[in-house]
Amino acid sequence: MFYRIILFIAVFLLKCEISNAQYPRQDERNQMVSAQIEARGVTDAATLKAMRTVPRHLFVPSNEASRAYYDSPLPIGYGQTISQPYIVAYMTEVIQPKENFKVLEIGTGSGYQAAVLAEIVDKVYTIEIVKELGGQATSRLKTLGYSNVEVKIADGYHGWPEHGPFDAIVVTAAAEFIPPPLIEQLAEGGKMVIPVGSPFMVQTLMLVEKKNGKARSRSLFPVRFVPFTRQ
Ligand code: SAH
Repeated sequence: MFYRIILFIAVFLLKCEISNAQYPRQDERNQMVSAQIEARGVTDAATLKAMRTVPRHLFVPSNEASRAYYDSPLPIGYGQTISQPYIVAYMTEVIQPKENFKVLEIGTGSGYQAAVLAEIVDKVYTIEIVKELGGQATSRLKTLGYSNVEVKIADGYHGWPEHGPFDAIVVTAAAEFIPPPLIEQLAEGGKMVIPVGSPFMVQTLMLVEKKNGKARSRSLFPVRFVPFTRQ
């Protein structure tokens, strides 16, 4: 009898753990979307839905998990950060993602931005320069079932020409200038969003659009990102 009770409790706790892991912290995500993202003007339905869906707390180190839905960036180790939820949503909306898109991301980090994109588009290619982060993101995305994301460990400066051209490119580290290979790999009519500026200073989020083979860029607003490093 005693063992049966123990077994019953163990099975119950395991079930809680599994359902917790599958559909966790939905209220906090809904609150994050309404208070931080919709309140600041993001309206794209697919973006909002993705932000309500991706379990952000599973993309941060366990000692940061309680703060996962705060209105701020968080450390993810190796001197890197996961962006503030609003910035992730803004960068997703601004490329106007469509279901049939193939998107390139530079700066996989935790894999969170890649997962948000993967909720919306067909295929996401993402490149991370820090081997350990790339490895962690690969297994995290696989565990969470994001089979439409491919992670490569490399210097993202060169893009991923084998899979280009891309309908959109999202760069999540601040570069001193826009890497020419990324402009080349942008499809006609495609959009790239990239923070540009010196490391550790205020940078400018830029939107690059390719029309008739020409890239035109415009400034969006000031941001602060970790630096785009080179191998
Ligand atoms: N998009 C990430 C945020 C990452 S922070 C997320 O959702 O969690 C920026 C990341 O860019 C860091 O992990 C950093 O290591 C990476 N990075 C910096 N320079 C890079 C480069 N040249 N190529 C690829 N990744 C780079």
